[in-house]
Amino acid sequence: MGYNIQLIPKVLEPHVSMFLVKSGKDYILIDAGWPGKNFTDRLIPALKDATKGGTLRCILMTHGHVDHIGNLMEVAETFPDAQVAMHILEAPYLAGGVSYGSIPADNLAYSILRKVLPEFVKIHLPVHRILYLSGEEGDVSEVKGATGQPPKWAPPKGLLQYVRVPGHAPGQMAFIHKPSGSLLMADTMANVGGGILQKQSPKLGLVPPGSSYNLTQGTQDIIKLSGLDFTTAFPSHDHATGVPKAAVVEFAQGLQSAA
Ligand SMILES: [Zn+2]
Ligand SMILES: [Zn+2]
Repeated sequence: MGYNIQLIPKVLEPHVSMFLVKSGKDYILIDAGWPGKNFTDRLIPALKDATKGGTLRCILMTHGHVDHIGNLMEVAETFPDAQVAMHILEAPYLAGGVSYGSIPADNLAYSILRKVLPEFVKIHLPVHRILYLSGEEGDVSEVKGATGQPPKWAPPKGLLQYVRVPGHAPGQMAFIHKPSGSLLMADTMANVGGGILQKQSPKLGLVPPGSSYNLTQGTQDIIKLSGLDFTTAFPSHDHATGVPKAAVVEFAQGLQSAA
């Protein structure tokens, strides 16, 4: 079919995933990882290698937290044909300089943590490189230029679906890669190990306290995702390589009965 999805090897530590989606000779990168030279120096060569013979057309962002936008500017500079796509409701935080700490939260941990955490990655993109999705859900092929202009390139219809999951960040999106049945869950759930060194086996659970501003909505987001059509889920923070749908459904049912 000419489509695939691959994890970029060796650039995942400390466990924030980036995904590269292939569509013929065109590529879409989903998220841009932690900032820092250590990551950039591994990510850029890995991306150049993975897209060899083709073109990186789009950097599609789940949301704008620092562990997801860290190398966005470096990737955008290295790959000048790539436009950067985000949900319009995430744009003020991701690229507009508005602080996540200014969002009213339903939990004290978020209010405290977001005041303390620096937001030190500055994203400045010319408007012609920014694309927006604006619905609650739909096909990523519907992206529009930030000023309403048609995108230079859009993914083909039927490749990637998006669903807004706003409990963690106002314009956070999860994606379904239709050809492989993969659900990219962003930061709705995590599948990480316990203990100080995170050495215990990964366990599917909520994202850490203080990282989501609206926990009630976060629960609804998980329940909504569990009802979608997919076979394997990939939380952005995953110490394994995906989670079978049955485990997501079981977790969501637990949340539902606790509500
Ligand atoms: Zn996040
Ligand atoms: Zn994250």
